[in-house]
Amino acid sequence: MNRSIAITLREALGEAKVLTDPATLGARRHDYWMLSHVQDHLGAPGPSAACVVHPATVVDVQTTLRLASQTGTAVIPFGLGSGVVGGVVAAPDAILLDMGAMNAVRSIDPVNLLASFDAGKNGLEAEQVVAEQGLTIGHWPQSIAVSSVGGWVATRASGQFSSAYGNIEDIVHSIEAVLPDGELVTLGKGPRASSGPDLRQLMLGSEGTLGVITGVTLSLLRAAETRTVSAFEAPDMTTGFAFQREVIQTGWRPPVVRQYDERESLRLDGRAKACLILMVHEGPAALVAAETVAVAVIAERMGVAAAPSDIVEHWLGHRNTVPSWDVFLKRGIVLDTVEVSADWSRIGLIYDDAVASLKEIPGCLAGSAHSSHVYRSGLNLYFTFAVQTSDPSEMEGAYLDGWRRIMEATDRHGGSLSHHHGIGRVRRGWLERELGGGALAMLRKVKAALDPKGIMNPGVLIPDA
Ligand SMILES: Cc1cc2nc3c(=O)[nH]c(=O)nc-3n(C[C@H](O)[C@H](O)[C@H](O)COP(=O)(O)OP(=O)(O)OC[C@H]3O[C@@H](n4cnc5c(N)ncnc54)[C@H](O)[C@@H]3O)c2cc1C
Repeated sequence: MNRSIAITLREALGEAKVLTDPATLGARRHDYWMLSHVQDHLGAPGPSAACVVHPATVVDVQTTLRLASQTGTAVIPFGLGSGVVGGVVAAPDAILLDMGAMNAVRSIDPVNLLASFDAGKNGLEAEQVVAEQGLTIGHWPQSIAVSSVGGWVATRASGQFSSAYGNIEDIVHSIEAVLPDGELVTLGKGPRASSGPDLRQLMLGSEGTLGVITGVTLSLLRAAETRTVSAFEAPDMTTGFAFQREVIQTGWRPPVVRQYDERESLRLDGRAKACLILMVHEGPAALVAAETVAVAVIAERMGVAAAPSDIVEHWLGHRNTVPSWDVFLKRGIVLDTVEVSADWSRIGLIYDDAVASLKEIPGCLAGSAHSSHVYRSGLNLYFTFAVQTSDPSEMEGAYLDGWRRIMEATDRHGGSLSHHHGIGRVRRGWLERELGGGALAMLRKVKAALDPKGIMNPGVLIPDA
């Protein structure tokens, strides 16, 4: 363990901000990635970091990165640890930079609909504080109560209401970040700019590999005047996709549009006979009324039946549950959710191929999907797989096999390999297939320019050359 970096950091930041006690180190070994939990379950936990740093100010972050650069020490940024792709896995020589204590509300500006937060601010707390003023961020990842606004930016997150309000890249106004050499930058100004490439995009999805996000200004919405819900049942996934495409391409924008395959529909609502489609409509009352009627008319025209809408209310009430992996691991079950996206012409092929492939895994208990984010040119699929093994030594292999099958099916049909969880470690080997060799080389050049010593979150996002 690299104790000397802890001593150096204590001298610079003070004793209280640099922790090396076993409890703190142990609690910050990894994020929510299933494979790290499998290792814990099997009694072979991964290592702890050399120390956990709790910066209180931007200057603390700058000091930490300057010292890390000078000493060539790896830095692993940690938001609230809800990442599911292995973006946080501690290493014995590394500094674990826990942003959770930098959690202030910096400002709320109801005139310009902007709110600024420290990067470690809990997402739900950020939403609640703007809601007190009749405003909303409109970003509702299922993990809202256990993720940070900085983590949202670092992973390019998506919320459940994205179909109208956008993903995090549409909501971010500006980003304050510390680069690996300690320099502080603010990226983004004004509602729009034509001032060269949009450098905010370098931080969006950077997964801690290009710098540390210290502050985020988000663009807000006024809380919707009205909300209503509707539910439909399509005879099959293909008909449901066609219905969604018609709704979106004719210009309607329900913030929530979710389509479940037969298996997931039944799990959601025991009355379901085929593929449920859930919608939430929000906005000015007149618009919501018009949209609700228009969507129902399109459904009827396309052979999609109306379904009892109480299921949407049920989903709204239960949508932010965070499951515990341990319940499954104790029964020898490995599982995960894997999100991809594709255009309308390919999405059905990916669904059929991936689900068929998952069912071939020995011990497969579930291989299913729903869509939850829709665009003019296509939509995402959110696969769930679960595999039961009687031999604990097979858990890791079974888990990686599930991932491989979804990645291969998506790649085979030209889909995008990650919709919103990011790359982390689990998808790193697939990044060249996703980006292409030229674009990956470009990303490596950006990384080398900003982080020449490679101190920022090694092992994540960018595959070794
Ligand atoms: C039950 C559950 C449901 C989820 N639902 C969704 C969902 O609906 N939509 C969605 O998009 N995601 C979802 N996720 C994934 C996860 O919540 C998001 O990726 C979230 O944005 C991570 O935020 P965090 O603060 O927990 O980041 P962490 O897990 O702490 O870190 C994630 C990555 O970002 C980096 N990072 C974190 N903070 C910073 C920072 N300040 N500066 C630089 N790098 C940083 C880390 O190094 C790591 O690589 C879900 C996860 C769970 C467990």
